[in-house]
Amino acid sequence: MRSRQRPAASPQRSAISHQRSAIGILGGGLAGLALAALLAHRGHRVTVYERDRAGGKLRRVEVGGLAFDTGPSLFTLPEVWRAFLAHLGEPADPLELRPLPGGLGLHHTPFGTVPLPVPPGHPLHAAWGEYAAPARALSPHLTTLLTTPPRLSDPAFRQGGAALFRATGGHLTALGWVRSRRLPPALAHAVATHALNAGLAPGDAPALYALLPALVAGDVSRPAAGMGALLDTLLALGRARGVRVEEGAEVVRVDPARAALTLRGGEERRHDLLVSALDPARLSALLGRPVRSPVSRRTVSGVALYAALPGESGLPATSVLPPADFGTFRGAMRAGALPPDTLALVHADGSRLAVLLTAPATGRDLGPDHPWVRAQVGRVERTLGVPGLLASARDVAALTPAHYAAGGHPGGAIYGLALPAWRGGPLHPQPYRVHPRFWQVGTGVHPGAGIPAILGGALIVDRLLAERPS
Ligand SMILES: Cc1cc2nc3c(=O)[nH]c(=O)nc-3n(C[C@H](O)[C@H](O)[C@H](O)COP(=O)(O)OP(=O)(O)OC[C@H]3O[C@@H](n4cnc5c(N)ncnc54)[C@H](O)[C@@H]3O)c2cc1C
Repeated sequence: MRSRQRPAASPQRSAISHQRSAIGILGGGLAGLALAALLAHRGHRVTVYERDRAGGKLRRVEVGGLAFDTGPSLFTLPEVWRAFLAHLGEPADPLELRPLPGGLGLHHTPFGTVPLPVPPGHPLHAAWGEYAAPARALSPHLTTLLTTPPRLSDPAFRQGGAALFRATGGHLTALGWVRSRRLPPALAHAVATHALNAGLAPGDAPALYALLPALVAGDVSRPAAGMGALLDTLLALGRARGVRVEEGAEVVRVDPARAALTLRGGEERRHDLLVSALDPARLSALLGRPVRSPVSRRTVSGVALYAALPGESGLPATSVLPPADFGTFRGAMRAGALPPDTLALVHADGSRLAVLLTAPATGRDLGPDHPWVRAQVGRVERTLGVPGLLASARDVAALTPAHYAAGGHPGGAIYGLALPAWRGGPLHPQPYRVHPRFWQVGTGVHPGAGIPAILGGALIVDRLLAERPS
């Protein structure tokens, strides 16, 4: 099936860009599958080894006879997805992305309710316009920043980096930037909440995260057939290029120098090159290195409740309940303690309801009956004016920090280990190359890695591998 034309490469480029190499990818989450399709498109023979089912944090579960897609629920920065398709020479977007009603949703802050984006006619609309102004100049550079190796020799990267520096005004953290803007308290609280998209409290997240609502709110979408369509599409794009995905194939040891891996059961597989799309702490264990992951340095985990309701909830598509106090929240996460009130995201779609509660990454199995979970659900129901909504569900399934720990970072930290704010944005080179024959990609290597950063990271690694000196 690998009959596609390969992109032209410059004459001094490496063996890997000219020859058909055998490449093994560890981990069949979105990152591993995205990179597999890109490398196979260059003509390489790619095998993906996945310990469980392909999809990683994005998977389908059935609850009360309804299909739910777990993990990512908001598709943002679709330009990065389009850049990914363009690299594969795909003329049409199979996802049919549809705008989500209400964008990033209604934010129930302690200072009032704020929809993001703030629509015309709303009392905070003018303040929203002022807040969003610095993002307008950054917006055209964002795809470049997310998809280009960070090199000062690259003029496009230099321009993007300068635009990012101007937009963030030299502030290091999201909280510092928000405070400097002197926004009305409700808007400041809603905006700062989005630093938590990096799995970090606003005082720890890079300033770029405070600009995210302005950068993404106008184009929040979901594939017409649900987020699971992204997984289906990545698998189909890979399959069409000859990618082999082995499910139930857990890698238990890696030898980078020989580009060899050992599967559970003892079978050894050798390749010309290996790429890890695993959490870096899991990779350390496979390399026989110590795993350093103090709870205080982990990004957050979560409890995801998927409920099949007896009828439509009548709730908006997305509601966001930030913690009342980010300082208390940050302290609890760092101590591995359960915060009095946590960030809760609620997605409603007909009789489907998803409630995502941010929790510390301690690997606990916090099910729906745990007192803290019940208390947080109670807060959600009171705030949204739907008492007893979850208790009325026909069926509820829960994914807990224990679940996220099983295939990811210790404790179930969704975005791996927290990086210092100065390393967390797209300006800093990440450790893509572990060894000349062993590379890495995925959430733990791309700070705050939601779908755009994962796809962008796959594009960056694909390009660096193609440029690799022989
Ligand atoms: C509740 C939740 C909500 C989210 N919401 C959003 C959102 O709205 N928008 C957004 O953009 N992003 C969101 N994200 C983030 C996004 O889903 C993840 O960052 C992304 O799916 C991670 O992809 P990945 O491939 O890097 O990692 P993973 O999905 O963790 O994939 C790693 C894979 O490696 C496998 N593996 C582990 N060890 C081994 C081994 N030894 N051998 C073989 N295979 C192994 C695992 O089973 C797994 O399949 C959300 C995540 C969660 C959990």
